[in-house]
Amino acid sequence: MKGQEPLLALLPAVAATRDEEFDCDETLDRMGTLYEHLATGSEPSPELALTAHHIQSCASCRDELEALARAQRRSD
Ligand SMILES: [Zn+2]
Repeated sequence: MKGQEPLLALLPAVAATRDEEFDCDETLDRMGTLYEHLATGSEPSPELALTAHHIQSCASCRDELEALARAQRRSD
């Protein structure tokens, strides 16, 4: 996808499918933590894996993460 945030390309490596899945609210709560994880490459927690999994399949949460990544880059 043209212009996609490089961070979002890392999502498949983090994502895990389990019995339970997060909804948008739960994902948004953890968006900042997931961003930190993607930016630093630290070991993902199971919770972050579910967050990444949701973002992969949800366009609106993907947009949120892209916006967060762009905003963080601007403030660097
Ligand atoms: Zn969502």
